[in-house]
Amino acid sequence: MIRILSALLAGLAAIPATAAPVLYSGATLIDGTGAPARARQDLLIDGERIVATGPAGTLKADGAKRIDVSGRTIIPGLVDSHVHLATPPNSTRARALLRRNLYGGVTMVRDMADDLRSVGELAREARVGEIPAPDIYYAAVVAGTDFFKDPRVAAISAGVPVGTAPWAHAIDNNSNIAEVITLVRGTSATAIKIYADLSADLVAKLTAEAHRQGLMVWAHSAVFPARPADGIAARVDSVSHICYLAYQVEPDVHPSYEDRTPVDERLLKPNDPVMAGLFRDILANKILIDATGSLFVREEGPRRKDPKAKPLRCTGKAVIDFTKQAAAMGVPISTGTDFTLPATDAFPEVHEELLFLVRDVKMPPLQVIRSATLMGAVAAGQQKERGSIEPGKLADFVVLKADPLQDMANIRSVETVVKRGRAYPRADYVPVSPAELSRD
Ligand SMILES: [Zn+2]
Repeated sequence: MIRILSALLAGLAAIPATAAPVLYSGATLIDGTGAPARARQDLLIDGERIVATGPAGTLKADGAKRIDVSGRTIIPGLVDSHVHLATPPNSTRARALLRRNLYGGVTMVRDMADDLRSVGELAREARVGEIPAPDIYYAAVVAGTDFFKDPRVAAISAGVPVGTAPWAHAIDNNSNIAEVITLVRGTSATAIKIYADLSADLVAKLTAEAHRQGLMVWAHSAVFPARPADGIAARVDSVSHICYLAYQVEPDVHPSYEDRTPVDERLLKPNDPVMAGLFRDILANKILIDATGSLFVREEGPRRKDPKAKPLRCTGKAVIDFTKQAAAMGVPISTGTDFTLPATDAFPEVHEELLFLVRDVKMPPLQVIRSATLMGAVAAGQQKERGSIEPGKLADFVVLKADPLQDMANIRSVETVVKRGRAYPRADYVPVSPAELSRD
């Protein structure tokens, strides 16, 4: 036994030490915390971590490889806090989307429940650098039994009786909640996603047990019949889709998630006081909102025209108003998307969410970058390790040719993306092909 161990250790020692330190010199630095941009800065990294930042020429960087990035702007790596990589699993498609994300500046995504057998392998490949991809943090879905009639659930748990997979649990009042959470931990998930068709009591029990066992809780903002206020009172960690919070204004809660009746927006007042109350409780309970606003704005028109499309639950205007109200109250907002752009698009979905926050919500650009970086890290529970450019954190950042504070469309001027210290020049990007994204 000892001989085997020492052989293993000798093998480890044979792995070459991390590459020499690298000094990215002379860029304007936006650190992701919301602090003002700093001109002419140096950023020193060693291996996968940030060592130091400081005014150009002031860092001790003997032996470091120097890269001149003067005239550029450096921001932390972007985070898409709402993606689906495997519903149904299709690794060719997922790898293509991940590649477009990474070369577009995204260094981390939050996968909001899918077939975790597939997502787990993608996460491993991304983590060790076998594929060009953001790092992936993911959730297992728990929902009431009605939800498991949804064909998407069968698609993410093929080969397993519906509702019994460790990553897709059907829950009722007889479920052994502690066992369910323990089984989720076996999937290497970061969180449970509380999706649909659960009572307020079950939402509270699931949340408490997940936290007790060290998992996060990423919830839909309305679960039905549990109301938005119930999830907030249960102290989930994040709520997805700001739109659904507005069901709180309705006197009668819809019995199930499958009842897709949109929010009755006639009940809303300007700066609605019921919404304000929810936002106050969200702040008090340190919850983050994964707003997914651009989805509602961009899909409103096409869905109205398509008689077969599922109706959206809010108009684009209502989603803009809610997000404005939440932002004005200081509620943390991350940039999730929950849609997929066609193969012809050269840049990832999350850029649309940044543009939504700047153009529609009128958030200050520095705050938008904070939402897309540090708040994304908070959404995935990774804020100690990443999300901002600070010594000790992982070296996840984007070198932009033009300043996003001048015009957020400059988020597309990507020159190089660095994830865990490894540089991915945009020039190396292989565009997504329609064949990769085809569902067949
Ligand atoms: Zn989703």
